[in-house]
Amino acid sequence: MGLSFADYITPVPAATLEFMYRPPLKHCRCCGTAAVYRLPDDGDTKVRAVCPSCNTVHYENPLNVVGTVPTWGEDGAQVLLCKRNIEPRRGKWTLPAGFMEMGETTAEGAARETVEEAGARFEIHELFTLINVPRVGQLHLFYRASLLGTDFNPGHETMEARLFTEAEIPWDEIAFRTVKETLTHYFADRRAGKFGFHVMDID
Ligand SMILES: [Zn+2]
Repeated sequence: MGLSFADYITPVPAATLEFMYRPPLKHCRCCGTAAVYRLPDDGDTKVRAVCPSCNTVHYENPLNVVGTVPTWGEDGAQVLLCKRNIEPRRGKWTLPAGFMEMGETTAEGAARETVEEAGARFEIHELFTLINVPRVGQLHLFYRASLLGTDFNPGHETMEARLFTEAEIPWDEIAFRTVKETLTHYFADRRAGKFGFHVMDID
């Protein structure tokens, strides 16, 4: 499965925060020699993983996390949440989301994660939230989606998938802040009778 959505919450040692947000690249991807984090020789002002043998500079860039806000009913009163079956935040609730894969669009990735984590049938709509999480080098994108039925068949990453009304949302048991922000915007827009597009930056 590779990286999970939850990797972004993994604590990063303070000393490495300024240039790293995931485990350091240990070996050169070209020749396998142990990489060294330093300023490259070409005038680049950012510390990079540089290979002391073949001189390859490895550029590490932010990752996209893509997901959906799947809703049920003509008025969209209920939202589908998944109870996580994997660490961290096992037992907490999340919207279906995960890391975008090579070769897919953001909407395709969001749809794939919704199938994998919830086994839901749905129709995907507009992009709803775009949330930068620069501390961990991630960009989270959530699309609105309409469920086409209420039979869910969650995969191994999910203990349970079920619908919640706004009053039922377990706000203190939501796994990730980007999910909490997205749900908050969803119910606020629903009350206002108009869905917008929301851009946020969070720590
Ligand atoms: Zn190398």
